[in-house]
Parts: sequence; structure tokens; C-alpha cells
Amino acid sequence: MSDQTELSKRVEALRQEIEHHTYLYYAKDAPEISDAAFDSLMRELRELEAAHPELIVPQSPTQRVGGYVGEQFSPVVHEQRMYSLDNAMDFGELDAWLDRVEDAFGKMVDVCCELKIDGSSIALTYEDGLLIRAATRGDGTTGEDVTANMRTVRDIPLRLRAEAMDDIVAGVDSLELRGEVYMPKSSFEMLNAAAEMEGKAPFANPRNAAAGSLRQKDPHVTAQRDLSTFLYAVANDAALEVEGQWELLQWLREAGFHVNPDVELCTTKAQVRAFCERALERREALAYEIDGVVVKVNSFALQRQMGFTARAPRWAIAYKFPPEEKTTLLRDITVQVGRTGKLTPVAELDPVVVAGSTVSRATLHNEDEVARKDVRVGDTVIVRKAGDVIPEVLGPVLSLRPADAVPWHMPKTCPSCGSVVVREETEADYRCISIDCPAQALERLLHWASRGALDIDGMGEEIVSRLVASGRVSDVADYYMLTELELAALDMGRTNKRGQAITLGKTVAAKLIGAIEQSKTRSFARVIYGLGIRHVGKTVAELVAAAFPTIELLSAATEEQLAQVSGVGEKIAHAIYLFMRTPDNVDVIERLARYGVTMADALPLEGEEGEKPLDGLTFVLTGSLVQSGMTRDEAGSALKALGAKVTGSVSKKTSYVVAGEEAGSKLDKALALGVPVLNEQQLLDLLETGRVPEGEN
Ligand code: AMP
Repeated sequence: MSDQTELSKRVEALRQEIEHHTYLYYAKDAPEISDAAFDSLMRELRELEAAHPELIVPQSPTQRVGGYVGEQFSPVVHEQRMYSLDNAMDFGELDAWLDRVEDAFGKMVDVCCELKIDGSSIALTYEDGLLIRAATRGDGTTGEDVTANMRTVRDIPLRLRAEAMDDIVAGVDSLELRGEVYMPKSSFEMLNAAAEMEGKAPFANPRNAAAGSLRQKDPHVTAQRDLSTFLYAVANDAALEVEGQWELLQWLREAGFHVNPDVELCTTKAQVRAFCERALERREALAYEIDGVVVKVNSFALQRQMGFTARAPRWAIAYKFPPEEKTTLLRDITVQVGRTGKLTPVAELDPVVVAGSTVSRATLHNEDEVARKDVRVGDTVIVRKAGDVIPEVLGPVLSLRPADAVPWHMPKTCPSCGSVVVREETEADYRCISIDCPAQALERLLHWASRGALDIDGMGEEIVSRLVASGRVSDVADYYMLTELELAALDMGRTNKRGQAITLGKTVAAKLIGAIEQSKTRSFARVIYGLGIRHVGKTVAELVAAAFPTIELLSAATEEQLAQVSGVGEKIAHAIYLFMRTPDNVDVIERLARYGVTMADALPLEGEEGEKPLDGLTFVLTGSLVQSGMTRDEAGSALKALGAKVTGSVSKKTSYVVAGEEAGSKLDKALALGVPVLNEQQLLDLLETGRVPEGEN
């Protein structure tokens, strides 16, 4: 026998030995040799293969890592669709399903109860006993090819054990086996602890960690993650000489797979329920996450009779555990400002593990909700989480409430920009309506640049976020201050192959500057829409622009006047009125006007040629208009829009002096000259009706 043959034999023997011990370790949970002895077998095999690369085959235990980069994530069509499971949310629904099974066969039949592993489903294809492909579930019909990564998962055999091959039906050369990839709880904790140390975002729960690890670009990364599997299905059960689920699980074990040991064949409802209750009791103690129990009609022949719905098999049901609840301390209630200005109270909790993931924050939705639940800072609160559901604060444990706990209220100003927040009567939410609020910057900037608004072609999310990040742009008026040079040099936050920062570049910059310039000529209605006033969509903006064709008119309009525009109700009128009276917004609008953005309808005012109610009258304004909060300029513009002239000094020709609070010498002069004086209320009435107060004329 040649040396080469000897060598091949030794290599093959080593492989078989290693596979055998891997099988004992994972599938049987009964190792026969020490880890050190196992490692030494591995080392010898590795050394032989390194010296004789021609002997390396993909199914060698040494090939679990690497080699297949690039083939991953291409689509894989499943041999049979990977269905989801119908859920039973309580024992009532579980019994109802068992009744349906009984009805289908006229008697109760054996059902196989298994733990529902909370991981990521996987389909493994073996051809002639060798693992050739691993795919995710994807949409059920087509998944992603994750073969290179799955090869690194130690508890799946790269080839099926010979004993099991005998049970494959003659002529079948390809088998698709299915199961769940999961990350043990302890490994998940360690992975997250490491992520935290490196300042990386942690995974939300072991399921996400498993799914994320499976879809790594680099299989070496997957190899470092502690992933395990439990197999429980075959795509085409006719391919195996097994009659039902119970036998299939035995076969999978024999073939070398890790199969969950908590399985039971049941024949009565009481047995099924007892299995579920036991699973629930043991849940916490298990090394991995489960989120329920899967009950399957055992016989494959009977399964076929029941068939599938469009979504799931009729012959199986997932009993989902009731949501898990824990208590923890409510340390604080903070306020988050959303991208649209909505203020959301958030419960800051002492971290607590609920249904497998650590919860330290939970939304409290709005002020009413906080009051309804009566949760206060310092309370011990009950936190609930059900499967995928977002954590929820259910309420306080009143007996543990500290004596000094006080009801919570929404702050009066925005935590992001300090602007006064508003709440509409009919709504539960408070909002920050400042156009200059950093928390809303991106959303507002994108809205301004969007098609229906100012339509700045090319100003998309990536560029806008970079502009915001660079500090160059924080509100919509800043767009008009940008120069071509600084746009061209904008750091896009990425580097090229040589490690140099990628910038926006001259060509795109020039185009953008052109587009910004162009945007100045859009209609006034689009400007109104672009400002992002709450409830003001395109149609409302057009109606408003038609009724108040200049920014001066719009700024001066009272709520009542706005509400009179057909199509504009009180709610919208209120929103516009408030928006136009928020100092930051006034400031941005003034800047936009200064930079040349349209602030009036191009068309002449309807009836402009005709008479206006205050034609021929001259007004002087003095003091401050505290009731309406209008500036003198705004009031002046509103008067002008009605045809009046507004001047700065009082003379005999002055028709009226409007005196606000703390009016000074102009009021004295008016009185001396006998010029009629209007107070603020009379001015507001005048603006609304277009008529001067009776007896004053
Ligand atoms: P769902 O995603 O909630 O519709 O539940 C269906 C999923 O449960 C399947 O796609 C499997 O990935 C998973 N699952 C976990 N354990 C089992 C099990 N023992 N039998 C069948 N499916 C399981």
C-alpha cells in the first residue's frame, strides 16, 4: 500500500473519529473523550491536511470556517415552502385546535409536543449525505444562502452519519432538513457585554443575535459567535423511511443532528396542557430561549390529510406563552422629541430581564397615558413583554410608592430646542412646532426639499444628513446660504479604498446649487406647504395661499380669519396661527424672504384693483401688542394689506393711532392733536372686519 493511500486512510479515520465525537457531544450530550483529546485529534487532522492540501474536502471538520465567502446571500428556492405556524394564545385556543384535529379524524390522534425554540429558522440541504447548502427562511419560498456561515456552526454534521443513510428512500439523493439556529442565553449575555465594551450597539435578544450572526458577511465572525441548532423537520417526508414526527426526531439524532430532548408524544388534551405548563415552568432554567410549545399531529399520513392553509400547516399549532411580567424601579420619565416634533414621555427603568431581553426604557406614549396609568418617578412598576412586542409599563405597585412621589407633567418647553410646546385640544400629544428644533431638523429639511414642496432636485436623505452632521444646515433657510465650494467639499462620511474621505464633489455640488436656486421660484402655496405646518398638506396650502397671498397677510391673519377659508377648519387655523407666532419660525421665514424665496403669489391679488376697506387711512402704531403677540411690523403689514398706510410719526394727517401696552410719546401726541386712538382689541376687530370702530371715525 502506498504512503499516499496510508495517508488518505489516516485522514479519513481521523475525520470519522472527530465526527463521531462531535455527534456524541452535540446530538447525544454524552461525550466519551475529554475536550483536550478531541482537540488533539483535530490538530492532527489539520496538520495532515496542511501538508497535503490535495486531501482537503469541503465536508472535512477542519473546513467549518472560511473558503466560501462570496457565495452567501444569493437566493435559494426552498424545495417545499417554509411555512409559519398558527398561534394559540391561550389554552382555550389550544383546546379548540385539538378539537379540530379530533373532528378531522373522528377520534383523538397522537400529537408530538416540542419546545418552540426562539431562534432563526434554517434549511440544510444534503446531497448524497454531504451538506451542500444552508438557507434562511426568507419569505418562505425563497431564502438566503448562508452556507459558508452555517458550516462554522459546530453542531451540524457536514455529512450525515452512515447509519442514518439507510433510511433514505432509494433514489432520493437530496434532503432538505430544517430546524432552528439559536444563541444560548449565556453566550448572548457575553456577546452583548463585549459589544458594550467596544461601544457597539447590543443585540435586543438572543433571537436577533442568532439571526444577525447567521447573516454576517465574514464567516470568521460567525465562527466566533456561539451558535447552536435544534433540527426538527424534513421538507419532503416521503424521502425518508419514517412514519411520523417522533420517528423523524430519532432519525435526525441518528444522522448526527442536535435534537431537543424535551419532546413528548401525547394523546389527550390534559397531557398536552401538562407539557405546556411544564415547559413554562422550566423556561427560565433552560440554557436557550423558548417562546412556546409546538404541537404537531404525529403521523405524516394524517398530516397530509389535514394539509396547509395559505400560511401555515393545519396539522400543527404554536402555543405561545403568556406575556412575561417583571417589576422594576421607574428612575425617571424623560421626554423624547420625535422627527415630527411629537413629544413622547419615556420610562427610564432599572434594567430588568423580561421575556429574555433586557428592558431599561419603555414608551409611555403621552401625558394622558402617564396619568391614566398613574405612574410616578420613584414608583416600582410592572413591566410586560410578550414575544416580539415592545416592552410596556403596565402600572405601579401602589403599596411600594414612596411618600414623596408626585404626578408627572409634560414640560412646558421642548427638551431639544427650548421652544414652548403646544397641545391641540383634540389631541393627546404635545408638540414642538419650532422650525429650528434640532430633533426635527432632518425631517423638516427633507420635507422642504421634497417634490411637492420646494423640489430641490438631488437633495436626498444622505446629503441632508451629512449637511446636518456637518453643522452647516440646521433649518430650511440655511439651504440658501450654501456655496458651491463648501458643498463640493462636504464629507460624505465614507472612505474610498485608499482610506481617503469621500466628498460630494464639484459636479453634484454645481447641480445642487442650481436646484437650490431654482427652488426660490416655486409658488407661494408650495412655500406654505414646505414650511411643514401641522395639518397643512398641499391642498390646504393652496387654499391658504389663495386667501392670504402674501406672507405678511398670512402672518397677520387671526385664527378666525384663517378658519373662514373654506377647507380650513378650526384645527388647521389654530395650527397655522400658532406656527406663525412662534419666534423661531418668524425668524426663519424672514431669512427665507431675504434670500429670495417666493413669499407672495405671483398673480395680482384678486380685486387688487378694486377698493380696499382701509384705503386712504393712515395708521401709526405704538406700544406692544401683548394680547395677540403680534409685532408692530406684523400688525402694520396686516393694515397695509387692507389698504391702509402705516407711518412712523403722528401728525394731523394721521387717521388713527393704535396704542398697545406702554405706549409712549406717540400716544401723548395723538391725544394732543385729537387723533383717534384705538386699543389692541379694536385693532383686532378692525383687522377681522375691515371696519373701523363706530364712533371713532
Ligand atoms: P412563527 O415565526 O411565530 O410563525 O413560528 C414559526 C417558527 O417557529 C418556525 O418557522 C420555526 O422557525 C420556529 N420553531 C421553533 N421551534 C420549532 C419547532 N419545534 N417546530 C417547528 N417550528 C419551530
